[in-house]
Amino acid sequence: MVKRFIYADNAATTKLDDEAFEAMLPWLRDNYGNASQPYSFSREPKKALAEARASIAACINADPEEIFFTSGGTESDNWAIKGSALSDPDHRATITSAFEHHAVLRSCEAIERLGYPVVYLQPTADGYITPEALESCITNSTRLVSIMFANNEIGSIQPIKELCRVAHAHGSLFHTDAVQAIGHVRVDVKELGVDMLSASAHKFNGPKGIGFLYVRKGTKIVPYADGGSQERGFRAGTENVASIVGMAKALKLNCEQIETNHFHLTECENRILESIKKSGIHFIRNGKAPLLPGLLSLSFIGQDGEAILHRMDLKGICISTGSACNGENTAISHVLRAIKLNEKYAQGTIRISLGKYNTREDIDSLATALISILSPVNTQL
Ligand code: PLP
Repeated sequence: MVKRFIYADNAATTKLDDEAFEAMLPWLRDNYGNASQPYSFSREPKKALAEARASIAACINADPEEIFFTSGGTESDNWAIKGSALSDPDHRATITSAFEHHAVLRSCEAIERLGYPVVYLQPTADGYITPEALESCITNSTRLVSIMFANNEIGSIQPIKELCRVAHAHGSLFHTDAVQAIGHVRVDVKELGVDMLSASAHKFNGPKGIGFLYVRKGTKIVPYADGGSQERGFRAGTENVASIVGMAKALKLNCEQIETNHFHLTECENRILESIKKSGIHFIRNGKAPLLPGLLSLSFIGQDGEAILHRMDLKGICISTGSACNGENTAISHVLRAIKLNEKYAQGTIRISLGKYNTREDIDSLATALISILSPVNTQL
């Protein structure tokens, strides 16, 4: 019997949709053929891959041949940053932001060690990279601009279309890490004009360990992995058919539900905010609209975010203090530092990230638990 708990850390990962799980089963059990083999047993997996690619492409208004399957967001980010750096020795500079996910930041540090300069733009206190900030440092030797679609700790949705326009006006490519956005807000790659976009299935109720990189036709990039001719020679390795099918199913479902989920999540987050306000506990919400639906970065002055997390855990509730991939680190996150949040608030910051499976009862229990932990009599314990 699984212990009843409330999961409110959907920016870290999400529950696999039942329909995605069911869609995966045949490819794990009976139809296990290698999609790259020429015999008839491989015809079905090959067809499933083509259908998944077309379905994913349709969800973001791309062409199927612009979708390359990867092992997730980290790989997609690594490939976009390193793969484009190595593709053009004449335009060596990259511009990114100081509050990207570590998959982007560490990839940028890796190319810096190879002699490719990187500029790290500082976000505003509200969590935005402005087109003006980009304009002030871009030059004609900038090869790539990489700015995340939505920040994973505070949820701020960046002005991607405008940033992309600045990059293109200087002849630079534009990549966006859309790991937190895909499946949660509408993404149309043609309308945005991006050249590359990273996504990860486990953030939109798909399986873990699978994702994709959108690469606009004609974009210069070197292959991520050399070997077989899978993914048209750009990402060698036997295709993970079951996970790819599960990812396509989950993305389609989430895209069909975007408006409904958005409405539900906004209602839930307002309910939490109202409850805390009513309790009289002082807090600030980090970031300003537009924010990801359901993501609340809340700071409580004089509190310890890590202690709140553990006390919520004892009550059977999962929340986070900072970025998921940083879960064991109690230091103030690079994101809160980048937005220059006052240290007294930063120490007492938690991230509640709600998902489509959270109910009103979950929300009320979560708010009650949080308020009881933060009320003055309890904080003295
Ligand atoms: N980019 C962002 C913004 C993320 O939030 C994450 C995961 O937390 C990643 C990249 C890494 O994705 P994955 O876990 O699929 O490697």
